Amino acid sequence: MRKEFAVIGLGRFGGSICKELVDQGVEVMAIDISEEKVGNFANIASHAVVADTTDEQVLRELGLRNFDHVIVAIGDDIQSSILTTLMLKEIGVGYITVKAQNDYHEKVLRKIGADQVVHPERDMGRRIAHKILSNNVLDYLELSDEHSIVELVAGDTLNGNTIIDLDVRARFGINIVAIKRGRDINVSPQATDPIQKGDILIVIGADSDINRFEKNLM
Ligand code: ADP
Repeated sequence: MRKEFAVIGLGRFGGSICKELVDQGVEVMAIDISEEKVGNFANIASHAVVADTTDEQVLRELGLRNFDHVIVAIGDDIQSSILTTLMLKEIGVGYITVKAQNDYHEKVLRKIGADQVVHPERDMGRRIAHKILSNNVLDYLELSDEHSIVELVAGDTLNGNTIIDLDVRARFGINIVAIKRGRDINVSPQATDPIQKGDILIVIGADSDINRFEKNLM
């Protein structure tokens, strides 16, 4: 059975979620209080609706209770975001993802039962900070407060070494889970595969261990 999705709030964040879901072949109902925003999505989404989602009756009329996943991407208007989430929860939506503006907003959203709370600006800010701090870090995904997956570019020191030579698990407590070389990606690198300068290593571990690895070997 096809899943039904709705995106509420068609700003930059909600708008790009909506477009990407449509590109992936999913049916999406796009909702915003602004007629202009909805107009921009009339030809993109399966249904584009002008509505104020802080009105419970409106949510019921839109049939949102039957949706599997609703994304609340209302930006600065924290009150509307909270009210909308609360009522979506009350009418029984299966799964609700909400964009939080700050930590307090996140706390309230979790309390009222949002299934997933995302902080796109904060997370993107952190990722960019990691890239700025190191020439070797291409990308970074936070797994917990202390653990990450990081993409590192192999420098001269690593050139020609194998994972065995480097003994990364014992010395640094990290794992090299994949190696990208040009267009190829090796998702189960052998310990005896030589690394070349310019390879992109995808490394998982504690942040402090990844930092040590990078400082010592990159
Ligand atoms: P972004 O930072 O993602 O661009 P915005 O604050 O620009 O976020 O976008 C939030 C969107 O949510 C706006 O298009 C706004 O019209 C919409 N919105 C705000 N309040 C409501 C509401 N009560 N019901 C429906 N949509 C709303």
